[in-house]
Amino acid sequence: MLDVRERARRHLLPHFTRGDAWRSDELLVIDRGEGCYVWDVDGNQYLDGLAGLFCTNLGHGRSDLTAAASKQMDKLAFYPNWGYAHPSSVEAASMIAGVAPEGLDRVFFVNSGSEAVESVLKFARSYHLANGDEQRQKVIARQWAYHGTTLGALSLTGIPYMRDPFLPLLSDSVRHVPNTLGCQLEPGQEAAELPCVTAVEEAIVAEGPETVSMVVAEPVQNGRGALVPPKGYWEELRRICDTYGVLLCADEVINSFGRLGHWFGSERFGAAPDLITFAKGVTSAYVPLGGFVTRPSLVERVWDSPLAMFSHGATFGGHPVATAVAVANMTAMRDEGVLDNVLRLEAHLSDGLHELMASHACVKDVRGTGYFYAVELMRDRTSGVDLTEAEFAQLLPGGVLEQFIREARVLVRPDSRGAAMLTISPPLVADATVIDDLLSRIDQVLDRLGGWLKAST
Ligand code: PLP
Repeated sequence: MLDVRERARRHLLPHFTRGDAWRSDELLVIDRGEGCYVWDVDGNQYLDGLAGLFCTNLGHGRSDLTAAASKQMDKLAFYPNWGYAHPSSVEAASMIAGVAPEGLDRVFFVNSGSEAVESVLKFARSYHLANGDEQRQKVIARQWAYHGTTLGALSLTGIPYMRDPFLPLLSDSVRHVPNTLGCQLEPGQEAAELPCVTAVEEAIVAEGPETVSMVVAEPVQNGRGALVPPKGYWEELRRICDTYGVLLCADEVINSFGRLGHWFGSERFGAAPDLITFAKGVTSAYVPLGGFVTRPSLVERVWDSPLAMFSHGATFGGHPVATAVAVANMTAMRDEGVLDNVLRLEAHLSDGLHELMASHACVKDVRGTGYFYAVELMRDRTSGVDLTEAEFAQLLPGGVLEQFIREARVLVRPDSRGAAMLTISPPLVADATVIDDLLSRIDQVLDRLGGWLKAST
């Protein structure tokens, strides 16, 4: 019998993974998880510093979630949400409506973040059609933002190397504007004057407001490294959208279900979007589920128009088992005070990362909030020297940075999207002891990186 690595190489096609990394003997095979830690098939323990992929919010090995799935499978394993409701999707939708920002209480379920983004694109288009605004189909999105891989979602994604191979297949109705990197308020400055704000309005005006359907942004943008918006940014997006009759969508596939210490990240920034996408943490990733939540007035406009329905759907949207797990996940998050845990300890994580920056000259910046951070890397902060292209290529992707991370037995993300970064997003149940362990392992990674940079001068 071939070993599991060899069979992976032969039969399992990985996502976003270089062929040489997959073919190597170093291929990591994760076998089991408990709390904030996972173990590989060789018995090595790792701290899950990325919550799988920003999603195992309650951590691993939760028997309450598996019990909820099993109970639902015994009762009703499947029925669709096409034409029918079932109690678990109704309960999940009601719970999400109960914690969503004010005025958003209609929930549409799909199976992933990309599908959630496809769904809002089509819902926004449907709403404008219902209003007789046939020309409104363009979308304003932001540079370096990741919104998924299906063709509509990839059209919104602003990461050149992900888009470029597929450009002929993508919609040309999307305009990418600058994100909020480095866009901070100077004393006395108003948010409306910020270039990252004026760029949004200018893009709408340049395209012709009557052709624009939606503005989409993450409250804290993951691509380009945990970009926290300046104060007043989301209020300005709201004002601009209202001025031009454009819908505002917060893509909260990462930001929702506690990542920023709130059910929805929009709460943290005073955002009042018309549409919010979610996925990942809604079930703590025990089973796939995604969706969006919106205003009743928008849904009713579509239903009461000649369209009569939102003409979009998926067999597994609102799957009884996935929605039962979402109910169990949200119940546990509420009863165990998981959001409070994040709010209580976010400063501890932030302070610890800033202390690491102070003691490692290879850290250029630390950004983020809640349990969601990026550590941006450079050659030497004291002399202001950045990584060369050659160093960058050796570090990422699948390069020596990955090796240092493995050695420190911490699964954080070596991120190459626009800069060399470590992306950090631990399970939301991580307590102070786990956070200290995480910081100490990141310290080891930065030590190794500093040593490597010194040796390569
Ligand atoms: N939108 C955002 C903001 C994301 O971060 C992601 C995935 O990370 C997606 C959409 C796509 O989600 P999925 O990978 O579930 O399709």
